[in-house]
Amino acid sequence: MDDSLNICLPCGLCCDGTLIGHVQLNREELPAVRELMDIEDESGNGFFLQPCSKYCDGCSIYSQRPKQCASFNCGLLTSHEENKLDSDSAIEIINRVKQKKSTIEKSLVLLNIELQSQSFYFKMVELKKVLQKIKSESSLTQKHIELTAELKELDDLLIEKFGISSY
Ligand code: SF4
Ligand code: SF4
Repeated sequence: MDDSLNICLPCGLCCDGTLIGHVQLNREELPAVRELMDIEDESGNGFFLQPCSKYCDGCSIYSQRPKQCASFNCGLLTSHEENKLDSDSAIEIINRVKQKKSTIEKSLVLLNIELQSQSFYFKMVELKKVLQKIKSESSLTQKHIELTAELKELDDLLIEKFGISSY
């Protein structure tokens, strides 16, 4: 195992629904992937939603994983592979993301905000709209303001370190 894989194993943020909401499949790989997992199929274009059912402390179908998965390199991994970021610093950033995620999830429970999406990624898309609505109704509480700030910090971290576009 090379050093770059070491940061992906404790991370998994591109498989557990944090960074990405769905994985797009191309037509050629649809039959093979369908043999491995349930996929959504919209007029011949397949995809599956995250969190990925094949993620369990790493990819359980690693050698047969879809093309989008095999070609995906986040900014953090790229920086690490280019020796611009050592493993400890990369793991520290990954842990910061997980910590922020956990803080946001706790706030959602505390504020009784129920979101319908499966993945954290789409939940955050939904949450932005919910917070905007509460703001437009002038019903923002201090807890809502703190949650908005947490979400913004997570967004900034993902954009800056992982090269992911905003939720
Ligand atoms: S988000 Fe980046 S570092 Fe984390 S598992 Fe995916 S490619 Fe690896
Ligand atoms: S197929 Fe494997 S690499 Fe792709 S999202 Fe699922 S667990 Fe991650």
